[in-house]
Amino acid sequence: MQEIKHFINGEFVGSKSGKTFANINPATNQQIGVVHEAGQAEVNAAVEAARAALKGAWGKMPVAERMAILHKVADGINARFDEFLEAECLDTGKPKSLASHIDIPRGAANFKVFADLFKNVPTESFMLDTPDGKGALNYSVRKPKGVIAVISPWNLPLLLMTWKVGPALACGNAVIVKPSEETPRTTTLLGEVMNAAGVPKGVFNVVHGFGPNSAGEFLTTHPDVDGITFTGETRTGAAIVKASADHIRHVSFELGGKNPGIVFADCDMEKAIEGTMRSVFANCGQVCLGTERVYVERPIFDEFVKRLKAGAENLKMGAWDDACTSMGPLISQEHKNKVISYYKKAAEEGATVVTGGGVPQMEGALADGAWVQPTIWTGLPETATVVKEEIFGPCCHVQPFDSEEQVIEWANDTKYGLAAAVWTENSSRAHRVAAQLDAGIVWVNSWFLRDLRTPFGGMKHSGIGREGGVHSLEFYTELKNVCVKL
Ligand code: NAD
Repeated sequence: MQEIKHFINGEFVGSKSGKTFANINPATNQQIGVVHEAGQAEVNAAVEAARAALKGAWGKMPVAERMAILHKVADGINARFDEFLEAECLDTGKPKSLASHIDIPRGAANFKVFADLFKNVPTESFMLDTPDGKGALNYSVRKPKGVIAVISPWNLPLLLMTWKVGPALACGNAVIVKPSEETPRTTTLLGEVMNAAGVPKGVFNVVHGFGPNSAGEFLTTHPDVDGITFTGETRTGAAIVKASADHIRHVSFELGGKNPGIVFADCDMEKAIEGTMRSVFANCGQVCLGTERVYVERPIFDEFVKRLKAGAENLKMGAWDDACTSMGPLISQEHKNKVISYYKKAAEEGATVVTGGGVPQMEGALADGAWVQPTIWTGLPETATVVKEEIFGPCCHVQPFDSEEQVIEWANDTKYGLAAAVWTENSSRAHRVAAQLDAGIVWVNSWFLRDLRTPFGGMKHSGIGREGGVHSLEFYTELKNVCVKL
């Protein structure tokens, strides 16, 4: 049974209170570790360590040296690739075929990409005319924002955490990470990599625990935190806005979604099926950018549903280290109960269950895990619960449509605005439709294809602000103007 401690000021420490909680493998429902739960004392110590690091070596370090250290962090993750892979798969149950392609390599890349990107971003300057004819020179300089609280979710633990920590450190900040209580392992392991790479003490800190009345709340209400970056549920985002309001600081939020996939009759069917299969079922449907509403133009509706059903029924659920496994479990029993309640609701509201709708029979050690069947529904109105609410499971509703206008209206009829996928071989239509969708990211004939230089974030209830490329630089730095009268 692994003991998982906080990482504060370069050292692994337990909680003063002695409080711990269980680390469960969702594939088996077995406890695999004991995690220390941070109280106010641990959060205070982490914030103090971060503040001290900014005043010390880290704050004074030349940019080139800082960036070289971040390259070493990426190399350090890759050097211990198998350990990170196992830690991530044990916490989440996700198959290694997925985590070895997405979670771990992309998690490592976040340190290199942002270090390289920020080296070359220019700042602005303006000459101002003055009445005495001598003028004034304005120029802007960037400085790190300071101490950043990073609160991350469980669905892509290393990837989504480093997506924030990479740019935050590249900008010269110090961070305190509160990983999800479901997935403490890879963030903790990263502490060892930070030390080995020569990251000064206090620059990267980790506190474990829950949200309310635990590490999350203590961190977001701490007066000496300068910025909060959060990925998770929309209602948690609302709680964090309230918690942080007294101390006025920037927040960056990546929240929930109810993303549409729009399949036109002029699509390439192979591509549309392959992409929709991934966008609905990858990571057992636990991807914020995933598609839960599929709209298919009527002439190809029956064919599309038939092929999506065949794809779903071909998914192989199993152990993370079985090379044949293509779908893992949900993150927890609690989340399984939530997803199953939506499966029941869909049936009650009159859905046609094309496939799935229940719990699979798993064998041996996997019998008690958080498994659910990949599920496809048709026949519901746009007002149905499973068409409106984010489920975060391996399921979608497929709706036929008859016109571009109708499908755009349906796609936008949601409180969310995170992502959308459009499948068409007509490029005029692709641009026309993409322009009208209320979503932070629109993919055309692809899904989850990410260029880290581009803006990432959600409209409406899906987020506040953008990260990625220079947009991360905007959040993780303060821009200051210097005006020099000549
Ligand atoms: P969650 O909101 O339950 O938890 C996220 C993190 O917030 C965890 O670390 C949790 O402990 C912490 N937290 C909870 N309550 C808190 C509080 N009151 N104060 C401070 N911290 C608190 O989300 P989750 O269940 O871990 O993740 C799934 C959700 O995340 C889904 O809604 C999904 O759409 C969303 N998500 C969004 C993106 C995106 O980029 N937009 C990416 C991944 C996941």
